Amino acid sequence: MLAIRELTKTYDTGTAALRNVSITIDEPQVVAIIGPSGAGKSTLIRCINRLVEPTSGSVELNGENLTALGSRDLRRARRHIGMIFQEYNLVERLTVMENILSGRLGYVSFWRAFRRNYPAADVAAAFSLLERVGLEGYENTRADALSGGQRQRVGIARALIQSPDLLLVDEPTASLDPKTSRQVMRILVELAREQKTPTLINIHDVQLAKTFANRIIGMQDGEIVFDGKPGQLTEKVLTDIYGEEDWSTEAAQASGEDAPETAAAS
Ligand code: ADP
Repeated sequence: MLAIRELTKTYDTGTAALRNVSITIDEPQVVAIIGPSGAGKSTLIRCINRLVEPTSGSVELNGENLTALGSRDLRRARRHIGMIFQEYNLVERLTVMENILSGRLGYVSFWRAFRRNYPAADVAAAFSLLERVGLEGYENTRADALSGGQRQRVGIARALIQSPDLLLVDEPTASLDPKTSRQVMRILVELAREQKTPTLINIHDVQLAKTFANRIIGMQDGEIVFDGKPGQLTEKVLTDIYGEEDWSTEAAQASGEDAPETAAAS
């Protein structure tokens, strides 16, 4: 499905953000990328669909080498890759429904969603997703009237309406409170599993990663330092990954957040 081989990114500033990163995902699993700030998690996610241009190495999705594509083919390939962003990237003046439907155009060209007519099947799919993310009745609400949790649920629906072959998620909960973060992660992972979409999530919060991912990749200083199951993330491994950074505070904060959750609440 996805084969990342010896991916390297050195920014113009000279920062080596990725050093020979290789990852293979050959089943529809949810993979969390964890690690301290600056480890290269976001760069990795963005090099896969070339929002950031890798310096060397290759990314193959279902047999197609994305790193070798010209701009037209890259646009086509991106239509098969869903992306969910930390800051949601919704079009604020458009309604929830228009934002979700813009996913049909590929996330790179969502401005073109403006005044588009969509096939009835797309509209039906959008309504169905709206319900799944707990936003039924919000179809005509403008994005700028929504809370952070609601916005991210629109972001999830917009990514999944593409029926993507791969879902890339960049810090989906960084702007949300702990309880909303769990709700958003639960919806995201449930839908990704249902659609059997391999999913890579850059997530700083270790507890969320352990709760929702099947596989965890730990990064440090541009390199993979751990690749295993959530159960294998012992305190020693976490200290190896995070070094000086205090991951345990976050873990403590996130626990005790298992109060009953109503999907539309936040
Ligand atoms: P993470 O997502 O793990 O916090 P990033 O991928 O954002 O890490 O950053 C990895 C390294 O690359 C950091 O040292 C960061 O400062 C640097 N970096 C990220 N984006 C840029 C950029 N656009 N230009 C130069 N350096 C960057």
